[in-house]
Parts: sequence; C-alpha cells; structure tokens
Amino acid sequence: MKLVLIGAPGSGKGTLAGKLVKALNIPAISTGDLLRESIKAGTEIGLEAKKLMDKGILVSTEIIFEMLKERLKKDDTKNGYILDGFPRTIDQAQLLDDYVKLDLCLYLNVDKDKIVQRLTGRRTCKNCGASYNTELHSNDKCDCGGELFIREDDKPEVVAHRFDVYSNQTAPLIDFYKNKGILKVVMGQENPEDTFKKAMELLK
Ligand code: ADP
Ligand code: ZN
Repeated sequence: MKLVLIGAPGSGKGTLAGKLVKALNIPAISTGDLLRESIKAGTEIGLEAKKLMDKGILVSTEIIFEMLKERLKKDDTKNGYILDGFPRTIDQAQLLDDYVKLDLCLYLNVDKDKIVQRLTGRRTCKNCGASYNTELHSNDKCDCGGELFIREDDKPEVVAHRFDVYSNQTAPLIDFYKNKGILKVVMGQENPEDTFKKAMELLK
C-alpha cells in the first residue's frame, strides 16, 4: 500500500502516520524528518535547508525529491509506505505521479482554530523527534526520556506563515487527488485514537 497523507501543519499527520506504521507494518517517510536528520548530520543540504525551515519557507523541490527517492530505494519500502510532508505542491505531486503509482491519499481535515492551538502548544523531543501537546502532556520529558523543546518553526509568527504556505500551495492537492479518484477525507478534530480508527475504516 502506497499512501500519501495531506493536511495542514499541525493537523496531526505525524501522529496518525506513527499509528498507521504499526497497524500496516510499512514505514512512514516524512520529508520534514529527513531534512531534520540532515541538519543534525551537519550536511551542506541540511545547513541550507535549516535557514528556510526556520522561517517556514519550502525547501527546493529538487533537493527534497532527490532525498525522497534515495529513501524510497531502501528495502523496508518494498511492501509500501506512508508519505508525510510530500508532496506539498502541485509540482511535487506531478513528479511523484510520474515516479510511482499511489493507492490512496488521506486528507486529514482539521479546523484552523484547532490547528493554531495545537501548533503553538507543540513540544518536540530532541532525542527521537516525537511530538506532544502541552494540553495532553504536562511533563517536560518525552516517553523515551529525551528533553522536549519548541521547534523554531512552531513559534507564532512562523506558524502563521506556514499556514499561508499550506493554503496557497498544498491545499490544491486535495482537488488534484480527488480528480485522480484516490482521495479520502478523515475528520481529525478529535483525539488521535479516534482519528486513527476512522482512517483505518477508510483503508479497508
Ligand atoms: P509540518 O508538516 O508540521 O509543517 P514538516 O516537518 O513536514 O512540518 O516540515 C517542516 C519544514 O520542512 C517545512 O516548513 C519546509 O521548510 C520543509 N519541507 C518539508 N517537506 C517539504 C517538501 N515536500 N517540500 C518543500 N519543503 C519541505
Ligand atoms: Zn523521544
């Protein structure tokens, strides 16, 4: 099963992807995570990307797509995968469409108010990258023991900009996949477990 998740930043794609990984036994590939790994590794691409990411600006499609193709060559993708964060523009969707045949696009639909609240309350683990919301998780440590911090791009000014980028560049993908006949919509207002159950219903 080759699956794409789309949704606004803070819609809960990462959390849903994590649950789907366990249920479907295929990897989730997040281009944001791939970029953050190259930042950690201190590569040239990572250093360049960090400047853009901290401002909520999209990194060049060429770089991201090369990175993604490398990742898709790994053995663990042979039974499929879940893409989170790619495609993010119509250009990227077109490139992907020429490269693989997707089975399904899940659109995680969440109201903007909810999203802003989630993003400004988001804390990320320095160690494993897991994210938590201050409303549901009062602890300042991750379950893995790692320290939690506020991502540079989760600061309020940047959140507003990311949301604009999403509305202008990413939201058009909803129609793109609808026209391909592979779009399914999951309402993601509630808690992560309910959202996951709804997604699993749609995958049957
Ligand atoms: P979120 O989905 O919460 O906005 P991500 O971790 O997916 O966060 O992405 C963080 C940043 O990484 C984006 O703001 C952007 O700068 C960069 N990025 C990730 N995926 C892509 C992509 N497919 N195309 C361009 N830039 C990307
Ligand atoms: Zn952790």
